Amino acid sequence: MGEVTMDKIVSLCKRRGFIFQSSEIYGGLNGAYDYGPMGVQLKNNIRDMWWKEMTQLHENIVGLDASILMASKVWEASGHISNFSDPMVDCKICKSRFRSDQIDLTKPCPVCGNKDSFTEPKNFNLMFATHIGANSDDASTVYLRPETAQGIYVNFKNVVASSRVKVPFGIAQVGKSFRNEITTKNFIFRSCEFEQMEMQFFCQPGSDDTWFPYWREQRINFYDKLGIRRDHLRWHQHGPNELAFYAKDAYDIEFLFPMGWQELEGVHDRTDYDLTQHSKFCGKTQDYMDPVTHEKYIPYVVETSAGLTRNVLMALCDAYEEEEITDEKGKTDTRTVMHFHPSIAPITVGILPLVKKDGLAEKAKEIEKALRADFTVFYDQSGAVGRRYRRMDEIGTPYCVTIDYDTMENDTVTLRFRDSMKQVRVPVAELVATMKAATKDYKRV
Ligand code: ATP
Repeated sequence: MGEVTMDKIVSLCKRRGFIFQSSEIYGGLNGAYDYGPMGVQLKNNIRDMWWKEMTQLHENIVGLDASILMASKVWEASGHISNFSDPMVDCKICKSRFRSDQIDLTKPCPVCGNKDSFTEPKNFNLMFATHIGANSDDASTVYLRPETAQGIYVNFKNVVASSRVKVPFGIAQVGKSFRNEITTKNFIFRSCEFEQMEMQFFCQPGSDDTWFPYWREQRINFYDKLGIRRDHLRWHQHGPNELAFYAKDAYDIEFLFPMGWQELEGVHDRTDYDLTQHSKFCGKTQDYMDPVTHEKYIPYVVETSAGLTRNVLMALCDAYEEEEITDEKGKTDTRTVMHFHPSIAPITVGILPLVKKDGLAEKAKEIEKALRADFTVFYDQSGAVGRRYRRMDEIGTPYCVTIDYDTMENDTVTLRFRDSMKQVRVPVAELVATMKAATKDYKRV
């Protein structure tokens, strides 16, 4: 059936309230997006799954929420002020801007077609700068963080001193990051404002050889829980030219987006680079003393660094399907269905009274109220039931409950499953347990 394209994803996102262009009524702002009612729920669900995975399911990981604005020294120490740049070229004729490492400079400009029109590549720092206080001088310059990780490194000592953690342990954080990206195509894949889910795992030097493969396995397995098809994920190991000079090893988890295989998450062995840099720049050694052996060392860090907003795009692309179906009368039709795992679907259950009259709407409202404590529900009483099912399919609602005349007689409802479109009759009293069991055993069909 129809191929998944970014245009189809963008159009569904707008039509069904997942994602809108920022400031759209003013012509839109490039590289910034607003998450609508469905999008924010999907994003929060993925975030909550990650948070649970990292903190609740691992005894040795604690959470943190550091501020977006940090002292400029942090970015001097991390190397972002001197190194966090992309090489940029402009077309002298049409003024389009490109990353010189992403286009062939020997070919004509891809926008206007003119030959030999590019400027010399120059480096462009990706950090957004602003000022704290009334003066706009160098001393007041601060940067919006381009990654969440540094907030974790600079709080390493605070967490050790306050939280009774012992190496090996990790600190997890989810939050906004900002990069002044030169090219922001492919919808939310690369935006100027985005969210990251990062975890820095502090371990004894040498033990990183054990923890690095451990975290690689943990991270790829996480995507099964989000219901992502394994054959749409693969590993890419950084070659010598890609590897940061301080990194011992680095792998990316790549996902098969409509524009091809692209990075989704990085798992990196960063050695003691970051804590050593901060030790130098702040003048206080960011070391750790083993409480048993009293040995002192600067821990090594294995980092897992995923884009939350890029995870949202992955979930949307992986879920999208245009399916040809045939109704009872033999008529064929295309249904657009989002196969979200029930754990991340923005709405878990749609409540649909067959008709509004004869007390059916009141009964449906009663059932809706009862289900709200356990699920995100959506009540819809307008239009033919078939059309209502399609609307639910398009936002990826895994279950629909239909209230009909039999419900009024025997307190049973029709439970319809999104992927198979199968319908079963279930007593109202068993609805919650039935849907919970189906979510636990969910397999995409
Ligand atoms: P790239 O080389 O594609 O610019 P990166 O290797 O610099 O990315 P990291 O710094 O390792 O990316 O960031 C970790 C994760 O954060 C990425 O795997 C990605 O999921 C996410 N991410 C990074 N930059 C952006 C962005 N501009 N928009 C959305 N997500 C991003």
